[in-house]
Amino acid sequence: MAIYTYPNNREQQITAPATTAEQLGVAPAELQHTLRVAGLLQTSLELDTILNLFLGASEEKVEFDGAHFDFAPLSYEYKFGKKKRHTCSYRLKLAGEFLGELEFSRAKRFAQQELELLENILCQLIYPLRNAIWYQHAIMASQTDPLTGIQNRAAMDTMLQREVELAHRNNTPLSLIVADIDHFKKVNDQFGHSVGDDVLKAFAQCISNNLRGSDVVFRYGGEEFVILLTGSDGRSARAVANRVRKAIENCEYCIDVPMTASLGTASLTNKDSTESLFKKADQALYCAKESGRNQVVSFQSLIKTS
Ligand code: GH3
Ligand code: MG
Ligand code: MG
Repeated sequence: MAIYTYPNNREQQITAPATTAEQLGVAPAELQHTLRVAGLLQTSLELDTILNLFLGASEEKVEFDGAHFDFAPLSYEYKFGKKKRHTCSYRLKLAGEFLGELEFSRAKRFAQQELELLENILCQLIYPLRNAIWYQHAIMASQTDPLTGIQNRAAMDTMLQREVELAHRNNTPLSLIVADIDHFKKVNDQFGHSVGDDVLKAFAQCISNNLRGSDVVFRYGGEEFVILLTGSDGRSARAVANRVRKAIENCEYCIDVPMTASLGTASLTNKDSTESLFKKADQALYCAKESGRNQVVSFQSLIKTS
């Protein structure tokens, strides 16, 4: 079911797609179009593809200049053509589940008959749209760490691979920071696992709050986090790592025990793979731990001193 609001908040229920020309009350040619659109919309689970196919098919029936789809829960937006003065908007719902808002616009007012045509064709979109939204939710869940809400190791593997390839191709800098909370086991032992979880959440938030928009933090596992710095050389990676280390030290946690972390940094050289870059940052982290914790060590400094 879809709830359609146009104009002045007039609401109309749109029933699930009808399957015969009789049920539709349309000519066989209309039914053919309906079936073709239904078939097309089954070919993908990608929101972009589904909306593009649907709007293309809608254009065959009703003329419009622009369309805009918005699904805030996924921060997803799709724009088609150019927005014009006259609009008609649909708040899409299926069995109470919100599926986004779709707005058509054009220079000329929409006639009642055209609105009816749009409503009919919208029925074709509801189920494929719901499936695409569910699919997108599943993709996001598979890349998100459920405890901290930041991206997980699977997301990191994909992004790191892509960014390393790009950095090699464009000859641009890229750095990694591996951060590990100091003596975290003691927090669990002293306060319990659930308080440990709260500290981990605050820790992840603290790192996120102290990064630039282009930097991304991932929970690698346990109490270990990785920060990917695209476009940053060794010097700026060390600066970011020092800023993050200080922020972690000064962050307020739910326990009255000082929390610190050790961080290792490494920057991509033209001989590095994702694996070797990660190994270098991890090696630097190991040295930070060995040297007394609550500090930043760069892999670069290890080569200089060896
Ligand atoms: P170090 O300074 O050498 O890093 O010491 P550490 O105690 O932080 O390191 P260790 O590897 O000995 O312990 C890590 C602890 O992190 C042990 C594990 O129980 C805890 N841990 C891992 N994942 C979670 C989690 O999701 N929640 C909680 N509460 N604890 C976790
Ligand atoms: Mg630790
Ligand atoms: Mg660890």
